[in-house]
Amino acid sequence: MNVLVIEDEVNVAAFIKKGLEEENYQVETVQDGMSVLALLGVKPIDLIILDIILPGINGIELCKKIRQNGFKDVPVLMLTALNSTDDVVKGLNAGADDYLAKPFKFAELLARINALTRRMNLTQNQEENLQVADLKLDRNAKVAIRAGKEIKLTSTEYRLLEHLMINKRKVLSRSDLLENVWDIRFDVGTNVLDVYVNYLRNKIDKGFDTKLIQTVIGMGYVIKDET
Ligand code: CA
Repeated sequence: MNVLVIEDEVNVAAFIKKGLEEENYQVETVQDGMSVLALLGVKPIDLIILDIILPGINGIELCKKIRQNGFKDVPVLMLTALNSTDDVVKGLNAGADDYLAKPFKFAELLARINALTRRMNLTQNQEENLQVADLKLDRNAKVAIRAGKEIKLTSTEYRLLEHLMINKRKVLSRSDLLENVWDIRFDVGTNVLDVYVNYLRNKIDKGFDTKLIQTVIGMGYVIKDET
């Protein structure tokens, strides 16, 4: 994993670099913020450790720029000597994922890095495409594809289908679906679920021999490729 450390205090930068290299990270250190943006597009960077007080441009402004320049997913851990709530809030608002107050123990830094990396991996899993039989859900393009043909979905249809597909072969109750797709916590006797299941069936199953969305009477709905 490649870590970029942006820190003008040479001792702190060296301390982080040495520790992380012992943990088999590849570490690049930069002392001023201005050169960072050029570096970002060129080098593979998996995580950024960013000090707030830097010459030229401060860490908060730099973090905003990193996000504005299209690097939305790379985790940013901010280092702050100014452990005031204000700076923490500013940092997080600027797009940082976590912060650590100086001085810190190396073990604490490592724990934060591990937590950020785990979260990043989880997010990637959430973005994985889903599949049931010949039905695929492209979670980037937000479209369904059945038998190679693209099917456009409204946002509610998409959320319903995604929830069914994440839980494929598992029967989902009405209250589960209403809560997770519509944020309705009680079954208030609405037929919105039946209406949308019907919409989805028309788009996904109509014209196909294998009906994927199945009603389990008295239980709820399930998506699966066998009856
Ligand atoms: Ca500094």
